[in-house]
Amino acid sequence: MSNYLITNVSVLGGTPTDLLLSGGVVADPADAPADAEVVDATGLVALPGLVDLHTHLREPGREDAETVETGTQAAAMGGFTAVHAMANTEPVADTAGVVEQVWRLGREAGYCDVFPVGAVTVGIAGERLAELGAMADSAARVRVFSDDGRCVSDAVLMRRALEYVKAFDGVVAQHAQEPRLTEDAQMNEGELSGRLGLAGWPAVAEEAIIARDVLLAEHVGSRLHVCHVSTAGSVELIRWAKGKGVDVTAEACPHHLLLTDDLAATYDPVYKVNPPLRTAADAEALRAGLADGTIDIVATDHAPHPHEDKDCEWAAAAFGMLGLETALSVVQQTMVDTGLLDWAGVAERMSYAPARIGRVSDRHGRPVAVGEPANLVLYDPSARRTVDPAETASLSRNTPYRGMELPGRVVATFLRGQATVLDGKLQ
Ligand SMILES: [Zn+2]
Repeated sequence: MSNYLITNVSVLGGTPTDLLLSGGVVADPADAPADAEVVDATGLVALPGLVDLHTHLREPGREDAETVETGTQAAAMGGFTAVHAMANTEPVADTAGVVEQVWRLGREAGYCDVFPVGAVTVGIAGERLAELGAMADSAARVRVFSDDGRCVSDAVLMRRALEYVKAFDGVVAQHAQEPRLTEDAQMNEGELSGRLGLAGWPAVAEEAIIARDVLLAEHVGSRLHVCHVSTAGSVELIRWAKGKGVDVTAEACPHHLLLTDDLAATYDPVYKVNPPLRTAADAEALRAGLADGTIDIVATDHAPHPHEDKDCEWAAAAFGMLGLETALSVVQQTMVDTGLLDWAGVAERMSYAPARIGRVSDRHGRPVAVGEPANLVLYDPSARRTVDPAETASLSRNTPYRGMELPGRVVATFLRGQATVLDGKLQ
């Protein structure tokens, strides 16, 4: 185990100080051993290791798109020390056996802690509940359950799932998409979808499910999390539900904060995502909701796809975008450089709050302070870079930011005091 003495670092943007990472925890720099490796962090901001509540690692089953190893390498490069791996793998993570397999693969890879998400229904088919209790009791200790990629559209199943997870303090993370309203849908429904001849995806398809689910969560007294909120109306509904005291949390994705539906006019499927890119007014409402706490967290919805699933005509292409390695830069551009959030606000939304929602805040989402686990990221907000898909650690290349200049750069990531990234390079 190496010891690191990080000098002149600005924790959450505060006055520069020194940090010692020793024995897996943050320690008093006065105790630094003579052989500690010194990292000059002048000009860098230290944030707690980022926690993603919504990552697709694709393993098992689609190792041509991503593996647990490559996905967690991308996570480390993006400043993450923990990711929640979505259940829509092949086979689906709907049993203790599959979630334990994913959890074990994460431990073996060692770049980032992997917390498997369990499916709500068997095979994410939406017909009967999966063995939620067995997944909760497994070595993976699953607390987040989601059919993400599909909506739990049956109200009775959703009610039962919300009731069931209360027994072990779990949460149902809903992919809010009314299926009948989005059959064959390709992009945000509006004037542009009509002009482009692409089937529209109405905002109400998302909002109707969120409205139903916050009422169900209130009725059964359970905890609901809403994945990838994409419309201004959804933000309003969640604000209303929180005002009523409903135990609901919500996430926004970096691409919905920055990108808008007019990109579909390129017909380039790299901009095809579920839920779709929305209007500038929607993106503005998401940024405002994230700033005022209506939206609790940023989650990446990192969704790798091999080129044959993306380099085709729009209607045939898969939904989804890479996100882990660019999330912090996009949040800096949309939220920090605009004055909507300070670095403490970023730490809350990208580390503390997602760790609390996922019930892993005994280990992750902790302050960068003496005695705490040494999970942290050193970030250079003054850097600029042009995104090159060839440089990603992911197995896939489907980043919507290719060729764009984004602010900031992850200089180092530490997991339990060991560098997974140093000098911007994977260790
Ligand atoms: Zn989803």
